[in-house]
Amino acid sequence: MTLEQTLPICIAGTWRLGGGERYASCYPATGEPVAWLNAASLEDVEAAVQGAHLAFLHSGWAQRKPHERAAVLYRIAGLIRERAEELAQLQRQDNGKPINETRALVASAAGTFQFFAAACETLEETITPSRGDFVSMSVYEPMGVVAAITPWNSPIASEAQKVAPALAGGNAVVIKPAEITPLLALQLARICEDAGLPKGLVSVLPGKGSLLGDALTRHPLVKRVSFTGGTRTGKHIAHIAADKMMPVSLELGGKSPTIVLDDADLDHAVAGVLYGIFSSSGEACIAGSRLFVARALYERFMARLTAAAAQLRLGDPADERTQMGPLISAGHRASVERYVALGLAEGGRLRLGGERPSGGLYDQGYFYPPTILEGLGNHQQVCQEEIFGPVLVALPFDSEEDLLAQANDSLYALAAGIWSRDYKRAWALGRKLQAGTVWINTYKQFSISTPFGGWRDSGLGREKGRLGILQYMEQKSLYWGMNQQPLAWAGVEAGQ
Ligand code: NDP
Repeated sequence: MTLEQTLPICIAGTWRLGGGERYASCYPATGEPVAWLNAASLEDVEAAVQGAHLAFLHSGWAQRKPHERAAVLYRIAGLIRERAEELAQLQRQDNGKPINETRALVASAAGTFQFFAAACETLEETITPSRGDFVSMSVYEPMGVVAAITPWNSPIASEAQKVAPALAGGNAVVIKPAEITPLLALQLARICEDAGLPKGLVSVLPGKGSLLGDALTRHPLVKRVSFTGGTRTGKHIAHIAADKMMPVSLELGGKSPTIVLDDADLDHAVAGVLYGIFSSSGEACIAGSRLFVARALYERFMARLTAAAAQLRLGDPADERTQMGPLISAGHRASVERYVALGLAEGGRLRLGGERPSGGLYDQGYFYPPTILEGLGNHQQVCQEEIFGPVLVALPFDSEEDLLAQANDSLYALAAGIWSRDYKRAWALGRKLQAGTVWINTYKQFSISTPFGGWRDSGLGREKGRLGILQYMEQKSLYWGMNQQPLAWAGVEAGQ
């Protein structure tokens, strides 16, 4: 396929051109097109959902034994691994992340399919303690058509976290990837097909969320939505779901505090804080974007942090030494710049960065350097709103009481980090922080075996973990009568 050709999209088991407008997925490091495709249309949404519904009813997938479904999921994991380099390079072009990072995301997607394959074939249904003349059981049934709506920052890893448990649970899935990063979801659909998944069980609808994602969420045959994205969109989806009495999981934004106590190991803390905010160019929901440092340590720590941040390699995502690539789009970079300007207008000072780099590739792509703001209060807008870029706000604190009040004073509650040599102190603080995930002496480490999600405006529900499959299944209680006699209430005697 040449660049000028239009990529087909996967709808109800058929690869064909989308019915919507033609557009390009562009490489954020140069702004140049990587591939052209037609967005899906509303008719395509209908076809994908109807096709998924039919595949759910008639392909036999839902009826396959768990170990049989698992066998297909293991094959998907294997094919992702076989095609890993090709996928990682494509993802680098689709969203501009450095190649080392996209390799890790592809590996994580394979691991996710493998994990949910294992979870699927070992998932236990329970015989519950009987309280009468019956055997009682708790079992799980597939739901039907599931919608997976994903953002642009971690394609394939985000999709895998939804598609793998949904398929393991016996469902069909319609994926709505971010409009600007559609390519990996399409590759995943191809891999599912090549692994022998029945046709129609996975469809992909590239294009605008406000049109396609909305229609998908409202569709009566869609029985569950798993969404990752911004809080405003998440709330919109939650309203629709409430009207349909439909379960949803919402993985939303964050403004996570990362805390350096006065007894921290400074080498570890500097490395962890840098990684927490500047890896993925800060385009991460769990970015440690609010830094709290014990006042006694503040100047010393900030001097080291700033010096190390200034050395980070911002540049060509294809270069294995690159630590930070470009931001996703010109529009997003402009939004990050507006936040930095707002921080300065609010009385903040720039400790580092804050200006677009120039020359060479920097003039073509949407690059923005590591930026550190200080001199602000936690109540100010740049400390409260998610910037989703490489911008750290640094705040000194005086006591743990003062720290806790500030750290928990946020609409978001997705993650937090603590750096301290005193594990008892870190434990006590970690228990008091309001967040879905707390890292102690580490940051941004993930395991598919550990549940993930946010409190408050950071989301609803959890993904990952062995029981992640149950999010995509309906629980059912079964009672098996063991009475020798008819139920007494009716007064019917046996044999009469
Ligand atoms: P958006 O909420 O704008 O988009 C996420 C997805 O939802 C996209 O596919 C988008 O389509 C779609 N969408 C947009 N409007 C609607 C709608 N009305 N109905 C249904 N779907 C819709 O988020 P961003 O793309 O800006 O992603 C960044 C956000 O994602 C950040 O806030 C970040 O914190 C959050 N995020 C959360 C994570 C978590 O696990 N908690 C992980 C990663 C990111 P389109 O592309 O057309 O806009």
